[in-house]
Amino acid sequence: MTSRPSASFCSTLVLIPLLLIGAAYPVLAQDLNGKIQYYLESQTTSMARRLLDQRLMSFDGSKCALAFRAQRWLKRDGGMFNGTASEIRNEALKVRFYDCRQGSAYANWTLDQIIHNGETIRASETRQYGETARRIWRGPLGARTSAVLLWDFFGAPGPNDTWNVDIEGQQNTILHEIVHVISDWDHEIIFNRFYSYGLRHPDGSSDFTDWLRSKCQGVSN
Ligand SMILES: [Zn+2]
Repeated sequence: MTSRPSASFCSTLVLIPLLLIGAAYPVLAQDLNGKIQYYLESQTTSMARRLLDQRLMSFDGSKCALAFRAQRWLKRDGGMFNGTASEIRNEALKVRFYDCRQGSAYANWTLDQIIHNGETIRASETRQYGETARRIWRGPLGARTSAVLLWDFFGAPGPNDTWNVDIEGQQNTILHEIVHVISDWDHEIIFNRFYSYGLRHPDGSSDFTDWLRSKCQGVSN
């Protein structure tokens, strides 16, 4: 053996522990533009996409799909949105999700470490009381790269706590955040656009999640 190990030998040594440890240590993932590398939390991201897939079963033709399609949304990238499950799934594939609860591996990460937006505030410190999830982004309109920070979403305060998990609430929370990603709309716009589809706004941003949960039934006009 030479005194200088080969490059492949080195990378094998580095990769094996990363694979074994899994989500506790991030894996570098490239964004769609291929320009910037982000740390992917594969465990939470896979879970979020799975929950969205569950929510989108029999979505096409549903009342929600009709409400979405009727907006004639111009997507943030300039394309037309037809409100189909496959379009929503494709958007979710571009988004990374992070468990940012106290005690999780990402709670003390800065927003800059997650999305490279220059903000040095820690993910756990951006959480508002009772906040379930929040989308953060980087880049200009049309080319934005998004990540979603998750807190009360899990139904338990820390990674080692077990509470009753509200799967349906989780599914609709993910859909809620993906609507932000697709449209770039804030809550005010969302509540205005879906008003005629029975979305009302008595409590807060969770009203949108609840409306999605009701299969977009909402109140009658
Ligand atoms: Zn929201």
